[in-house]
Amino acid sequence: MADSPLPLALLCALKPRLPDMLRILRRFVTAESPSLDNAAANRCCSIIAKEWRKLGVNVERIAQKHRGDHLRVTYTADKSRPAGQLLVLGHYDTVYESGTLARMPFRISGGKAYGPGIFDMKAGIVQALFALKALQQVKLRPRKRVVFLWTSDEEIGSESSRRLIETEARRSDAVFVLEPSFGPRGLLKTARKGVGAAELFVQGRASHAGLAPEEGVNAIHELAAQLTRIELWNDARRGVSINADIVQGGTRTNVIAERARAVLDLRAVRPSDMRRVERRLRALRPVHKGAKLQVTGGFDRPPLERKICAALFARAKFLAKQMNLPLGECTAGGGSDGSFTGALGIPTLDGLGAVGDGAHSDHEYVFIHTMPARAALLAALLASS
Ligand SMILES: [Zn+2]
Repeated sequence: MADSPLPLALLCALKPRLPDMLRILRRFVTAESPSLDNAAANRCCSIIAKEWRKLGVNVERIAQKHRGDHLRVTYTADKSRPAGQLLVLGHYDTVYESGTLARMPFRISGGKAYGPGIFDMKAGIVQALFALKALQQVKLRPRKRVVFLWTSDEEIGSESSRRLIETEARRSDAVFVLEPSFGPRGLLKTARKGVGAAELFVQGRASHAGLAPEEGVNAIHELAAQLTRIELWNDARRGVSINADIVQGGTRTNVIAERARAVLDLRAVRPSDMRRVERRLRALRPVHKGAKLQVTGGFDRPPLERKICAALFARAKFLAKQMNLPLGECTAGGGSDGSFTGALGIPTLDGLGAVGDGAHSDHEYVFIHTMPARAALLAALLASS
């Protein structure tokens, strides 16, 4: 099937649908869905569910108490016996608070569509919706059951959705993640760094800085010494980065600081480097006599390793070529839910979503003319898997 001009047929079906795609994109973006606002998120969830129901697929709403509901859409073209499962994964929550639309409304200008969460990743959900529509239109029947999972808490660590994601992934032969692609050329993300956070807490001893400095133990000096040491662990070549993103300490001038803390952002490409950074953090000992040092935390999102994606990427590239679409790849510094599925050893291809830029910023946008081709690529992947 992969040898036929299938992607082109899908692209031809999808190109005239761009106005419809934009109409639904507007609908999704104007339903604000911050991860932490359940009522708003659930309204958005209903709007997304409604569009999928129109396709005659099975739409289940998985109710959540503390977050917006998750949405599981199941499509079985060959009702008798699907030969496995494919998972299409994404999230509908955004990092923008309710009311953000007032200052960054949905708008289309100069070939770009703007709005909160449009790139990360509501346009991706629209592309998936139209990918399925196109398959139905050209009467292509994926041999496998296709499960689309739209979750509500990716932007805050996927606590309520992780088990669901992992359960569906284990049943699947491949996972396609509709997170945004990278850069104006829309690179797919074939590797992602593992991500974590650690906290260093230093307990020193307060004392008068002028009268009795020798009786104090300066927690800030101790913390600074530790951070200077930790900074040297950064290794750009191996993709290891450790950054102190928050520091706090001390009370006032004249008083030797009794306490100080730092929160570190941890990133690494290889699991072995993740473990190494964690070991080194645990092995830290105070430099200043009398100081106490406590280290907590570590990596919590596994890396997505390239070998997990390689075969899927090769196929995506092959299919894209048939639409005259050059397709590149990159390593992303951030994690996604694809990191969870990849860590289970399930072939995972990430960054299949929108082409655009400005995720998590006030100029977030997508290139609208790329949407039909990206939808066609996903449809071709589903049909040929
Ligand atoms: Zn995202």
